[in-house]
Amino acid sequence: MASARYAFVNGDIVPFADAKVHVSTAGFKFGTGVFEGIRGYWNAAHGQMYLFRMDEHMRRLAYSQRFMRFEDPIAGEHVQEKTLTLVRANELRENIHIMTTVYVAGHGSPTVCGPVDLAITTTPGVGPRLAERGARVQVSSWQRVADTAMPMRVKCNANYHNGRLAALQAQVDGYDACLFLNSRGKVAEGHGMCFFMLRHGRAVTPPLSSDILESITRQTVIELLREELGLEVVERDIDRSELADTEEAFFCGTAWEVTPVVSVDRIPVGDGAVGETVRALQRAYLDAACGTSDRHAGWRLPVY
Ligand code: PMP
Repeated sequence: MASARYAFVNGDIVPFADAKVHVSTAGFKFGTGVFEGIRGYWNAAHGQMYLFRMDEHMRRLAYSQRFMRFEDPIAGEHVQEKTLTLVRANELRENIHIMTTVYVAGHGSPTVCGPVDLAITTTPGVGPRLAERGARVQVSSWQRVADTAMPMRVKCNANYHNGRLAALQAQVDGYDACLFLNSRGKVAEGHGMCFFMLRHGRAVTPPLSSDILESITRQTVIELLREELGLEVVERDIDRSELADTEEAFFCGTAWEVTPVVSVDRIPVGDGAVGETVRALQRAYLDAACGTSDRHAGWRLPVY
């Protein structure tokens, strides 16, 4: 993956190759870090880059640090300022993905809570791979970790091993992506994205108490479905058996944006083609993110 020239770590902007942490840090050894994946959208007509839903990302980063009992957590204002500085230093003028991590730089046991450090990287030119043809999805035999074990609501690095196992299993078995069931046997989410289906004309998505991340895109999509597509949205448990009787389905997330799901366990969703509602939602989402429509200006933070 192409990297930008500079990264931010140890309080400084440094050449990308020099952005290093010590092998003894708790962040490296135990995954005691929390992170946010953020998108920047380049709008050529405006000559502007917009960071999408930065306030919400900063709020969740603060929550994750609090939950992890980090000492002297890093304030959202500081993270935002350093993110803007780094994007400008890299002179990025295309769509980008930003990875913002606060990790325990202290050495020792898994209970070490500080000091913490901020690391930021910016990756240019990334786009959703499956937005056009849609994803063929496998219901994983791995279960989503329950909130009583390692809460998925917290965007902690260590949580991502669960998704890694399921995503790799799907890949090895010839699918594009995985879909988790939770400890109650209900549909939860993908390894890095939330799930929606259209059933009997209504959009349905698992509730936030389903062992899922409180996804910012999920909330964005709920608003767009209601306000711009005029659809009713229901947050309720989804049974696995419902997946074989849906009109349309999709994943959503910062990286996945709105990605159609065209089959589950090789059973076609609808007629197996990408549906009209998902296409309309993709357009509404990108209009909001790129600023090609004036609506939702508060969701976009200009960089330049
Ligand atoms: N679920 C998980 C497990 C994720 O890692 C992500 C990506 N952050 C999502 C859902 C989507 O969340 P968001 O819309 O906030 O990116």
